[in-house]
Amino acid sequence: MDKLSKLQRHDKAAHARRHANMAAIHSKDTKPEMIVRRGLWKRGFRYRLNHKRLPGHPDLVLRKYRTCIFVNGCFWHGHLVDLKVFENSDCCKIPKTNRDFWVAKIRRNKERDREEQRTLASMGWHCIIVWECELKPSKREETLDSIAFTLNHIWLQDHGAKTTPYPQLEEENMQMPMAAESEV
Ligand SMILES: [Zn+2]
Repeated sequence: MDKLSKLQRHDKAAHARRHANMAAIHSKDTKPEMIVRRGLWKRGFRYRLNHKRLPGHPDLVLRKYRTCIFVNGCFWHGHLVDLKVFENSDCCKIPKTNRDFWVAKIRRNKERDREEQRTLASMGWHCIIVWECELKPSKREETLDSIAFTLNHIWLQDHGAKTTPYPQLEEENMQMPMAAESEV
C-alpha cells in the first residue's frame, strides 16, 4: 500500500469515528431529553416520542394536553442569543474561530425553531421549550415541576374551567335552600 492510500484510509476511519460521535450527540436519547422524560413520567404524564409527522419532530408529544415539548441544547439553539445583535450569551458561547459560520448556523437553527413553533401553534398545539441549562442538577426539579404546572394549567384551560366561578356559585347557594323550603 502506498503512502497516500494509507493516509486516505486513515482519514476515512477518522471520519467514520467522527460521524459516530456526532450521531451519538444527536441521537434521540441524549441526556437532557431523558431527564425530562423520566421527570414527567414520574409525575404521571404520558407521552409519545419524536413525533415524525409534526413540524420539528418534537421530543415529547402529550396529546391529552395538546402540547409539544422540545428539549433544546443551549449552544445549537442559541439560548439567550438575540437574533439582531448575535453576541455571546451565558449559555451560548460562539467559537471565535469560524465565527461567521457558527453565527449563520445558529441563526438558521433559531429561525427554524421559531417557524416550527408558529406552525405548531397554528395547528392548535402548545409548545414548551426546555433548555439544557434548566436541567442542571440544582434547577432540575424546579424546572420539571414548572412544566407539570404548565401542563395542568393548559388542561384546565382546554376544559373550560372558569377562573372566576364564585359570584355565580354564591347565587346558586342562596337560591337552593329557599327553593327547598317552599316545597316543604
Ligand atoms: Zn441555556
